[in-house]
Amino acid sequence: TNDHLDAWDRDCFFHPSTHLAQHARGESANRVIRTASGVHIEDRDGTQLLDAFAGLYCVNVGYGRQEIADAIADQARELAYYHSYVGHGTEASITLAKMILDRSPSHMSKVYFGLGGSDANETNIKLVWYYNNILGRPQKKKIISRWRGYHGSGLMTGSLTGLELFHKKFDLPLAQVVHTDAPYYFRREDTNQSEAEFVAQCVASLEALIKAEGAETIAAFIGEPVLGTGGIVPPPAGYWDAIQAVLEKHDILLIADEVVTGFGRLGSMFGSDHYGMKPDIITIAKGLTSAYAPLSGSIVSDRMWKVLEQGTDENGPIGHGWTYSAHPIGAAAGVANLELIDKLGLVENAGTVGAYLQEGLRAALGAHAHVGDIRGEGMLAAVEFVEDRDDRRLFDPARKIGPQVAAALLEQDRVIARAMPQGDILGFAPPFCLTRQDADQIVAATQRAVETVLG
Ligand code: PLP
Repeated sequence: TNDHLDAWDRDCFFHPSTHLAQHARGESANRVIRTASGVHIEDRDGTQLLDAFAGLYCVNVGYGRQEIADAIADQARELAYYHSYVGHGTEASITLAKMILDRSPSHMSKVYFGLGGSDANETNIKLVWYYNNILGRPQKKKIISRWRGYHGSGLMTGSLTGLELFHKKFDLPLAQVVHTDAPYYFRREDTNQSEAEFVAQCVASLEALIKAEGAETIAAFIGEPVLGTGGIVPPPAGYWDAIQAVLEKHDILLIADEVVTGFGRLGSMFGSDHYGMKPDIITIAKGLTSAYAPLSGSIVSDRMWKVLEQGTDENGPIGHGWTYSAHPIGAAAGVANLELIDKLGLVENAGTVGAYLQEGLRAALGAHAHVGDIRGEGMLAAVEFVEDRDDRRLFDPARKIGPQVAAALLEQDRVIARAMPQGDILGFAPPFCLTRQDADQIVAATQRAVETVLG
């Protein structure tokens, strides 16, 4: 047996996102995951769970892919590590940079590698600042992010994240970060507002913020094509076009945080393709390797690169880099992962089976008295619960309806969905290899869980 794991876990392991009070009361046992295959994970007791959230929306090609495991093992045997600071590269990382650019929107120019989504977004902000310094406008530094956006949990990226949990007790956000409205049409104040009117309101409030802060102080706007951790909220029609027009007018760069949407989750290779965005930087992580190894990147546009290239000898090298930037094992995983996505047509599957899953959720739950909204894009979907459908009233947060439904889903049918951290929202982000039968199973289990908790 491996019962010692429970004691070691309790006594030694400080997990991310630990609820300290629950831990102190001894209420925080953790499930030990032992193996996984396809869309299923298995714990040490042999219990199988259907993972409808792909880990943390990252195991996009599904678990247990031997092609990726072999690529990692081969790379580890051949060359486990060499750094990628200027002067050196490895075959895997150079090949991966080329493969990423081959798949990116055509105006993108270079890839700067990191390890995870948070550090990639830290890199982005420093590149944006460097860019403005080269242009001789060091005062243009502030970054606009959206309430409910998620961009990581470092000091800068936690500031960009627009969720209170990531600010409180940390004295965040930092002074260079300002937040604007989330394009959350379902939660609009005026229910008579059309989507177009709501978009116009988002634009007006962005314009007002830019005016109040001064466009000459604002460097960039960062946003996820579809809000993820903040509630899985696709933008209303026309949102990105309208926002981009404002940014262009005020010479503000756009960073598309595609950590979740990059490499196919919306049924398009990038969310930027999906919504006609023309970002200056695209953040990639999770789906780049399907989480078989940690790796992230910042894809920089031609326009930015042309300015960065003007850096003078007096600037010296950019004072920014990580030991593990472009780690060869992560890069080998990335190459094998992107090949697999192409070979199996997984971007297309994410679009078609994702739409099928959403239709199923709508058919099963669309008329339920406590389901206010069912939304999604590609292999990303959410069900939002309300106390009252007519006025979209929220449940008392103390009732924890979202977490209760997620727990019932897990206990009754062994399906993993995620209770999103703000609001009573159940999120789905399965691996792209999900089948229609898997989707049917998720829908039936979700219906049962909702009925158990809400009648
Ligand atoms: N950006 C987005 C959109 C994310 O969803 C996440 C993580 O969920 C991050 C950035 C941060 O990535 P990481 O947790 O790898 O640092």
